[in-house]
Amino acid sequence: MGKVIIFSAPSGAGKSTIVNYLLGKNLGLEFSVSATCRAPRGKEQHGKEYYFFTEEEFKRRIAAGEFLEYEEVYPGCFYGTLNSEVQRIWAEGKTVLFDVDVVGGLNIKKKFGNQALALFIQPPSVAALRERLQGRGTDSPEKIEQRVAKAEYELSFAPRFDTVIVNDRLDDALAEAERKVRDFLNA
Ligand code: ADP
Ligand code: 5GP
Repeated sequence: MGKVIIFSAPSGAGKSTIVNYLLGKNLGLEFSVSATCRAPRGKEQHGKEYYFFTEEEFKRRIAAGEFLEYEEVYPGCFYGTLNSEVQRIWAEGKTVLFDVDVVGGLNIKKKFGNQALALFIQPPSVAALRERLQGRGTDSPEKIEQRVAKAEYELSFAPRFDTVIVNDRLDDALAEAERKVRDFLNA
């Protein structure tokens, strides 16, 4: 069994920014492409950011036992990790990097124990989170409010993670994330 690194956070906290930075650092990490039944955003491509399935296709794969974990992250909108992703990445001798919601992150941590490092990315405040989602410009005002409304609940899960990184100044958060990941990979 190889190692896995899990990043979870309320949407808009800066998780993708941090994950993309780490993926560019030659640390032997590979992104676990999740499956979702939400629509692609901006330039997102099937097989790159996500596997985009219809709700029917997603449910068929749940029934077939293809998921390591899955969640109905928003009403009517499933997200999940395919077992095949983890096997594919380990077969390449690499460490799996997950970007999943807080509940999925804790479920994965439970499955992999000490082989897993679970990091929680925390925004400096809920107000900052809303501003970042507005600034990103990829979600409708209703979607943004849905995400902000969920953030308080998600923030309550932070203490259950191995590490919490507050993403206030981005440079500091990137450096801290890189240090934690390097320490875990070298342990
Ligand atoms: P997530 O993946 O957690 O939903 P993103 O990485 O997409 O979040 O970040 C949300 C938005 O906030 C993006 O526009 C990103 O450029 C911006 N952002 C990320 N980190 C910071 C930071 N420390 N300060 C200000 N803006 C940030
Ligand atoms: P977004 O729609 O912004 O890409 O993602 C919404 C939420 O779904 C984020 O919190 C993201 O981390 C989470 N998510 C993405 N993939 C998975 C997954 O495979 N499993 C779970 N449980 N959550 C996921």
